[in-house]
This record gives sequence, structure tokens and C-alpha cells, in this order.
Amino acid sequence: MQNPRYSMLGSLLLTLTIALVAGFIIGQPGWVGLLAVCGWALLQIRQFSRLVHWLQHESDKEPPEGTRHWGELFDELSRYQKRHRSRESYLRNVITRFQQSSAALNDAVVIIDQDSNLEWWNRSADRLLGLRAASDRGKPVMNLLRDPRFIRYFKKSNYSEPLDLPSPVNSDLQLQYQISEFGKGDRLLVARDITRLLQLEQTRQDFVANASHELRTPLTVIRGYLETYLEQDLPRPLARGLEQMQQQSRRMENLVSDLLLLSRLEASRQISDEQPIQIHSMLQHIYDDGMALGRDKGHELVLELDQEHDLLGQEIELYSAFSNLVFNAVRYCPSDGLIRIRWWVDAEGGHFAVKDNGMGIESIHIPRLTERFYRIDESRSSASGGTGLGLAIVKHVLARHGATLHIKSKVGKGSTFSCHFPPDMVTRAQRLELDDPDDDDDSADNLPPRSTHSSNSEH
Ligand code: ADP
Repeated sequence: MQNPRYSMLGSLLLTLTIALVAGFIIGQPGWVGLLAVCGWALLQIRQFSRLVHWLQHESDKEPPEGTRHWGELFDELSRYQKRHRSRESYLRNVITRFQQSSAALNDAVVIIDQDSNLEWWNRSADRLLGLRAASDRGKPVMNLLRDPRFIRYFKKSNYSEPLDLPSPVNSDLQLQYQISEFGKGDRLLVARDITRLLQLEQTRQDFVANASHELRTPLTVIRGYLETYLEQDLPRPLARGLEQMQQQSRRMENLVSDLLLLSRLEASRQISDEQPIQIHSMLQHIYDDGMALGRDKGHELVLELDQEHDLLGQEIELYSAFSNLVFNAVRYCPSDGLIRIRWWVDAEGGHFAVKDNGMGIESIHIPRLTERFYRIDESRSSASGGTGLGLAIVKHVLARHGATLHIKSKVGKGSTFSCHFPPDMVTRAQRLELDDPDDDDDSADNLPPRSTHSSNSEH
């Protein structure tokens, strides 16, 4: 299209020239010129009002016919209008397909803006979360999903783990919430119905718990008979066979009790009644048992304790977790190993670690070590008498206490298994009050054993 400014100017000059020539011929150039300019201006106003009328009332139809630059302008507008229409229909199509596919989703999908207000959600969000399209748009998400656990999760802004909660509209439905961030602080919330999955998981857990429970009685009977027979004076080959049977039935008993413990741990994700645990005496017991277990191998065990702090939690569970780590170090360390057991507290919380200088673990095995029955080397593990469930138990116990397990290992150098507890699980050791130097009663006798032990288990 020609530059409209020049085109209009050209048309005005042409009109004026013709009018002036005609004016000179009839001897009235001024009047004729003025009349021509007024006529030209009226023509422009008419074209302009046709354009306005078309834009306001008939823009869905073809633009009107126009002369010269107006014709070009109308044609240009018509091309622009066609392009715009085809883009609009493409975008409408995309939106319709997006709405259809999001409506077909069984998961609730909700878009939350930077100010934590609800911006958009699909049909499943009405059903699973009870959001109402007419009244809830623009409202803060925390006014509608009010469960304190959801609010904590939403505010945390670390969404690496999902959150499982009952649906706010139907407590029979279990939902798994997962938030992802996008744009400038916007969030996408997806809520999945996991009721059936949880039911299946529950069935599996019940089955394992029931089967383990049922196996206990026959095992106790078998062990009882074996013990009685072994007290008799039996021929050597028969006695050897019965001893093997006794050893294996002991292993099966350990397996059954580990399976039962795991089922109990899996039953809930958090401990319900946390108690202050005298971690010093607990670790002293574990240390003593570790010494007894490692006596034949000549291990050296070192115990280092922070005397000022204890831990909150479930004593039986933590005993099981900590002892598993210490006994593993004792069992998987070749002769004359050095095993260091530590409990300390810093600004990040409480920490328990077991470090050995044993055979170590290849890095490819480390992420899988806490899986049930995962073994690096079957022969090494069965010789050690383990059940293959020890680290799975440790992981579950720690998760129930809000703690994490870290494993560091180097082949040929040894391994460190450390448990990290959040600061709110740490408490001041109560016995410090008894340890008042001005207090001259003999309560010092009640103090736990010395804080650092270094001893060779051969002695
Ligand atoms: P298990 O009953 O077989 O000991 P665990 O779950 O306690 O089962 O341990 C899993 C595997 O991790 C073991 O089979 C063993 O191979 C390896 N493992 C555990 N602790 C150590 C350690 N301190 N040093 C070397 N390997 C270890």
C-alpha cells in the first residue's frame, strides 16, 4: 500500500489543480478552488464515516468499496481481518480442546496465581475438592482447602514430596496433592484420587502381617521340639542336622519378627506419642551388644556421646534402627575393624552416625540399600545371618520420626550410616539436673556410663 499521507496529498493537489484551471477559464479561480477543496473534504468525511460504520456494525462482513487510498485501506483492513479471524479460530480450537481434555481428566487440576488465589480449575476439582465455578474464582486457596496439613504444605514452598490427605468434601476419598511452580510464582496443584491404591497397599500390608503372625506359632513349636531333641545324646550326623535346622528356624523367626515390625511401622507415617528417650543409656546397651556380637572378630568399638541432649521419639523403634546400623557394621566388617558410634547435636538437629572401616559398598547399590530384601552379595548376607530387612526398618523408623538416613561409603575404605533428626526432636538431657556439682547427694551414681568408650572387644 502506498504511503496514505502522500496519496491523500496527491488527490487533494490534483482536485485543486483541476479546479483552478477550470476557475481560470471561467474567471473565478478563488471560488472554484474553495468549492473543490470543500467537495474533496466532504468526500473524505463520507469515506471516513463509512469506515467507522463498517468497523462498528458490519466488521464481520466484507469492507465497503472505496476510492483510491480509501480502497487500499479497506483492502488492507480486510486482509488483516481474515488473518485475525483464522488466528482466533485456531486459538478457540486450542482452548476448546484443552478444556475438553482437562474435563476428561480424573485428577483435579487447579491453577493458583502469585497471590495464592484460585485462577482456574477443571471439572474434577469440583468433585474432589468442592470448588464452585461461580463463587470461588479469585478466592485464596487456603480459604477453601483449610486442612492445616495442606496449609503447611502449601506455605512450605518445597514441593518435592507429595502430600496425602482425605478429600475436603468426602472423607472416604484419599487424595494425593502435588504442587508445581511455573511462571512468576504461579502454582499448579494436581490432586489425585489414591483411595484404591491405598486400599491395595493396606491389603498387602494386612496379608504380610497376618501371614507373619500365623507363621509364628508353628515356628515356636518346631523350635521347641528341636531344642528338646538336641538335649538328648544323639548320633553326631543326626545332631549336626538338627543344629542346622535350629539355626535356620532361628533365622526364620528373626525374619517373621522383622516382617511384623515393618508392617507395624507401615501402618502409620508418623509416631503418635513421642517420649523423651535417654539416648545415652540406649546407645550404651547397643554398644555392649555390639561388643558381644563382634567379640570373635576382634573389633574395636568407640562410643562418643553428646551428654547434654536427648531425643524425642519411640524408644523401641529407635532402638531397633540404631542397633541395626551398629550390628550391620559389626557383621559386615572383616576382623579387627574399627567402628565409631556417635551422637551429637548442632543447629541443624540431632545426629546419630555409625562409621566403620570395613569392606564398603559400591555406589550403584547405595540408593537401593533400604529396599526390602535388597542384598549386595547374597552369600555375604546369609553368612552374616541378616534378614535383608534391617535397612528398610531403619528407613521407616526414621521417616516416622521426621528424620533422614544418609549413607556414605567407599569400597575398601568403609561406610558411614548417619541419621539426621530435626531440631524439634531434640531435647535437653534431664539427668543434667542430677549432675549439679553443688548437689552433694549421691545421684551421680544414676548417671549414664562414661561418655566416650574405646574398647577392644577381644578383652
Ligand atoms: P541384612 O539383613 O542383609 O543385613 P540390611 O537391610 O540390614 O539387610 O542391609 C542390606 C545390605 O546392605 C546388606 O545385605 C549388606 O550387603 C549391606 N550393608 C549394610 N550395612 C553394611 C555395612 N556397614 N558395610 C557393608 N555393607 C553393608
